[in-house]
Amino acid sequence: MFGNQIAGKISCEGKRIFYSFNPSLNQQNTSAFPIATNEEVEHALAISKNSFYSFSSSKPSDRSKLLELIAEELALNKSIIAKAYCKESGLLLSRFEIEFKRTYEQLFLFSNFLKTPNFELLSETLGDQKNTLPHLVKKHVSIGPIVVFGASNFPLAYSTIGGDTVSALAAGCPVIVKAHPFHPETSFLVGEAINNAISKTNFSRGIFSQLFDNQYSVAHKLVLDNRIKGVGFTGSYIGGKALFDLANSRTIPIPVFAEMGSVNPVFVFPNSLQEKSEEWSSLFSKSITNDAGQFCTKPGLFFIPRSENGKRFVSMLSEKLIQEPSFTMLHPSIHFNFEKKKQEILDQSKGELIEKKESTVILEGRQGLFVTSASEFLEIESLEKEVFGPFAVICYYETINQLKECTEKISGQLTATILATQEELIENQSFLFLINHLAGRIIFNNVPTGVRVCKSMHHGGPFPATTDSRYTAVGSDSILRFMRPIVYQDNY
Ligand code: NAP
Repeated sequence: MFGNQIAGKISCEGKRIFYSFNPSLNQQNTSAFPIATNEEVEHALAISKNSFYSFSSSKPSDRSKLLELIAEELALNKSIIAKAYCKESGLLLSRFEIEFKRTYEQLFLFSNFLKTPNFELLSETLGDQKNTLPHLVKKHVSIGPIVVFGASNFPLAYSTIGGDTVSALAAGCPVIVKAHPFHPETSFLVGEAINNAISKTNFSRGIFSQLFDNQYSVAHKLVLDNRIKGVGFTGSYIGGKALFDLANSRTIPIPVFAEMGSVNPVFVFPNSLQEKSEEWSSLFSKSITNDAGQFCTKPGLFFIPRSENGKRFVSMLSEKLIQEPSFTMLHPSIHFNFEKKKQEILDQSKGELIEKKESTVILEGRQGLFVTSASEFLEIESLEKEVFGPFAVICYYETINQLKECTEKISGQLTATILATQEELIENQSFLFLINHLAGRIIFNNVPTGVRVCKSMHHGGPFPATTDSRYTAVGSDSILRFMRPIVYQDNY
């Protein structure tokens, strides 16, 4: 039986339910999920708060062990999780394997990080012998119970035990997950793995709960409640901004770490195309179309010199793109929005759409490129908007100055990619300066998809890519979102 998971127990008090959806069959699944009642939300909040003080002061080594136990439980339940994952997302088993590995290894990244001696210590300044200058010890403490919202396109790595939950638990913050309604069964099974792991430790069961809702009421109650001290969100701009505004409307506002959409511009310099067109057109056609382009780092906007080489590159890219396989999209509403946003561009711009012919794939993410000019880009708002799916806009530019003008128009991004020769990079320092202020990750001569999970990763970027560009959602530094500095001062 499925239900809300509150402090290790399954709770089904309400009468309202919803069903998950199978996009590959374009029909509802039979598993029903009860929408959390007000009492259930209250219960999850109360036990979350009650468990906070002991959890936040627990030994990092115990939290490290908890993360390893969660990884073990996930491995034990891998095959049933895989079944639910494919049934609810339409993603292939091969993609499940990649995402599972990433989720599993991420737990060990944090568990090892917690083994670093004194990982909470930031700095220490000794006092003087006469006691006129104090002794200061600055360290990190956890901020309190966190609400986590997962994304539809990563049912594991950005969902119930995704980066937000793992980093919050590592920091010593209890977590309440609002499960994503596109993959509730996967979320539930992962939730049970977390509960089984907690039951093997001395931690309070209150450090993890997961609630179900296919509308916004539960989410809003959680974010507005004073016991919640932070929010981790991965999803659309509309969702992230709505939750950010809600949290800021509280009498006591809290940080919302919303990782949102991005168009991930690619800036191509003229000489770089002489030798690399073949290689890059192959790499980018895959990067745009892989898993129906449903990645926040999918390259969605290209600036290409209007030259013979530039046109040859675009023609190679479009030919290869059309030959790539098409995939079922995650859900009818994502498919609907994909088509709608493409249409908005077609209605507003005079460019040309190059698109694969329709096939028999259900809810098909049919890949395409829209070819236009940099001068149109400067005038038309929709050309800068994320189209979530296997689609990219190509803008031919005339001069480097025009390229700079376009760059200045683009709002904050998760990534920016530069395809250029060494000489072009050296010659265009002022352009690189602009790019530094545009994105959280800058890629030279490769694709932006594929986010390595490690200490040096920064997955974030200026608004509207995220609501706080100073923090990363991926890698061990993401723990910093859920801790705050405190200094202890004495005169001895
Ligand atoms: P989404 O529709 O924003 O959903 C994310 C979660 O937030 C869901 O649980 C959703 O609940 C909830 N939500 C959305 N609007 C809300 C509101 N106004 N109030 C309360 N809760 C709300 O996003 P998605 O379709 O799952 O994911 C696709 C988007 O995520 C793309 O734009 C993609 O670029 C972005 N993404 C970003 C990253 C990143 O790291 N930056 C990673 C992956 C995906 P409901 O489903 O009930 O609406």
